[in-house]
Amino acid sequence: MRLLRKAEKSAKEMRVVKLVVGSETFNLCLFVGRNRDHWVTESSCDCEDFRYNVVYRKLRPFCYHTLTAEISMRKDEVKVIHLTLDQFRLVREEISKNGKSLLLRRLLFSKGAWQSRP
Ligand SMILES: [Zn+2]
Repeated sequence: MRLLRKAEKSAKEMRVVKLVVGSETFNLCLFVGRNRDHWVTESSCDCEDFRYNVVYRKLRPFCYHTLTAEISMRKDEVKVIHLTLDQFRLVREEISKNGKSLLLRRLLFSKGAWQSRP
């Protein structure tokens, strides 16, 4: 299945990033896409496909992002990044304004975290 292969590839690329905010006050997972970021868990996502095909039409129980999150968590292929509350607010703001967070990308790159496994 195409979606599964795509999700497996994204899991290997470590596109699911766990944001630990403040002193572990809470954490959230983000799917860092090429053009858009999505707030994701193994069973929910904020993308169109999830809203339309999963929730509304009940076509299948997952979207590409939740599938990737599920695989990533099962294989422990999840990046963990620690953010201050202020950084988190900025990330959230960037995503709601632009669809993706440049700050998060900067942080991921600067830590050398944004690398896929060989
Ligand atoms: Zn999705």
